[in-house]
Amino acid sequence: MKITMINSEIIPYESLPFGFSILIKTLKKNLIEPEIIDYNYLKKIGPVNILFSLEDINNYLFYDKITTEMDLALHKISDLITNNIIGFSCFSYESLKNSLILAKYVKENFPEKKIIFGGIGTNNYEQELMKDFKFIDFMLMKKSEQQLLVLITCLYDKKNFQKIPNLMFRNKLGIIKSNPLSQIDINSQEIPDYNYYFNVKKSFMLQYMTSEGCVNNCAFCGLVKNKIQYKKESKVIEEVNYLKNKYCVKDFCFQDDNINTNPERTIKLMNALKKTNIKWYALSSANLITNKIIKKMAEAGCKWIQFGLESGSKKVLKLMNKPIDLDKFSEVLRECKKMGIEPQLNIIMGYPGETEFDIRETLEYLYKNKENYSHINLMLFRLYFASVIGQQLKSEYRDPTQLKNNVERYNYFININNRQSIEQYISFLEKNNISYISVFKPKQKNN
Ligand code: SF4
Repeated sequence: MKITMINSEIIPYESLPFGFSILIKTLKKNLIEPEIIDYNYLKKIGPVNILFSLEDINNYLFYDKITTEMDLALHKISDLITNNIIGFSCFSYESLKNSLILAKYVKENFPEKKIIFGGIGTNNYEQELMKDFKFIDFMLMKKSEQQLLVLITCLYDKKNFQKIPNLMFRNKLGIIKSNPLSQIDINSQEIPDYNYYFNVKKSFMLQYMTSEGCVNNCAFCGLVKNKIQYKKESKVIEEVNYLKNKYCVKDFCFQDDNINTNPERTIKLMNALKKTNIKWYALSSANLITNKIIKKMAEAGCKWIQFGLESGSKKVLKLMNKPIDLDKFSEVLRECKKMGIEPQLNIIMGYPGETEFDIRETLEYLYKNKENYSHINLMLFRLYFASVIGQQLKSEYRDPTQLKNNVERYNYFININNRQSIEQYISFLEKNNISYISVFKPKQKNN
């Protein structure tokens, strides 16, 4: 049995796709050697632009208009695919849109190929994606490594796949959704297989996850609200040591939604991590961190920490339902710096209700604290249907024709009317020499 697995997430730093590598491990363990196509390693096809503007993506997905450049890139990538079953693992909206255009292209040119979508980048949108994009044959919901295996077997043996849990497919009656599985125990999660990447390159930051879920309830968050799960500390130590020794790497990037959701568990985890002698990076909650936890994290090898600050405006934080005290958070940044941890801050641009005044307040806050963080991760507000604000807006999208009409206003990926705030943020940060990372560049003047 054969499958081509595609990772279209562009990773701007030396990191690895965690969920994708768990899938690879599951397939290999069951004697399926997947063909891997990763957008970060497309050297075989020579230099080719794989980053397209939202207008070009929307034009192709919704209006069948393709640019010569996109045609060339998709042609070259699709030429690499040698199997008839293709799995697209979407981690974010960036990878979702990359996957959608490739899947559409492949289906138009090779209609016999079966297209399977899955991954957290599709969460919240499964139904809408199946409705709007007929080239997706199957959608696997939630975590479905085992279900992917069963689906591949059914497709090969031409058996009935309709009873596979967590699956969406089409038949004469329309889109069918099979029974969902309950939450899978995080302690039964496979260790990721990173062999493909270490054959391409020798040094990476290893990705690993110690917990799943979050105690906060940010209004924009698209995280599926499951019960929080923690891996046993003994399992964390065993697996971290295994990965560290197997790949001879001591730098880790923890993929937990939030590393400090529970102070007691955080302390236990830090005591465990201390024994592994690694350096690590994680996402942490700005409202839950304390000096005691910062100290414990530093002792356990934490070197970089990403905080979801999202805004420096009290009003916007309230709209986001983020209980962050900005003055206290300035102290947290100072304390991290003092303990040798480099904080970086996530900022959301263009949140609904954000005004010019709020943008100025955020920029002033960033300026005031600029000595105490390493850089800003600039993100645009995205509408997640499962989020609190997404639920309010979801009714607008029930009718696919309406979705198509609204695509320029609120599309799946970003609200492109927010360009004004991107330019404002970026020019301020550049003028004040504040380092930032953003996949969204300001719109070109001549566009
Ligand atoms: S802190 Fe992060 S993971 Fe938790 S609810 Fe807010 S956005 Fe979601």
